[in-house]
Amino acid sequence: MHRETVFIGFGSNVGDRIDFCDRAVTLLSLLPHSQVVGVSLLYESEPVNDHAQPGDGWFLNGVVQLETDVTPKSLLSILREIERSLGRDEEDRSGPRTIDLDILFYDQLIINEPDLVVPHPRMHQRRFVLMPLSELDPLFVHPILHRTSSQLLAEVGKQPEVRLLFPQPSTRYGSRQACSPPPGS
Ligand code: AMP
Repeated sequence: MHRETVFIGFGSNVGDRIDFCDRAVTLLSLLPHSQVVGVSLLYESEPVNDHAQPGDGWFLNGVVQLETDVTPKSLLSILREIERSLGRDEEDRSGPRTIDLDILFYDQLIINEPDLVVPHPRMHQRRFVLMPLSELDPLFVHPILHRTSSQLLAEVGKQPEVRLLFPQPSTRYGSRQACSPPPGS
């Protein structure tokens, strides 16, 4: 059966951020009619409009690549359900977020509905999305902008700052090798 390639962005900026990201990816890996085929490394990003110190307030971000036959609408409600189950405050959606999940791409589909816009309308302006996305699939083409994720990354501004989390944690969804230390350190 043909499955669509979907990219889901995740982010957390409160509490045990690594654990929230890990649990979100674990829950995504349990979705029926779906298979997680890629999980990016974790990136740490400065919150927009905020000059908080690294640590609290900074986001951990990453991207999951899924092959799925779950429809976009069902996937959106599943993501909302995962956010709820990980304790996201529905009353204050713009406040600190235990976990935020966004559908970045649903194959080459273009969706413009009141509650669902795909490709995600701000993803191409967000370095913290484009870095993990380019890591997973640098040649994936944005169906509206007709640019690959690596082209979009090359064009996006350098601020706010985004850096690879070091060391990378070993998580349930894959014991990633810790990155080698930067040369000269
Ligand atoms: P946020 O508070 O940034 O997580 O925004 C969540 C709201 O954005 C949800 O109520 C969704 O209905 C809506 N939304 C629109 N497009 C998307 C998308 N591509 N992925 C996730 N949420 C979306």
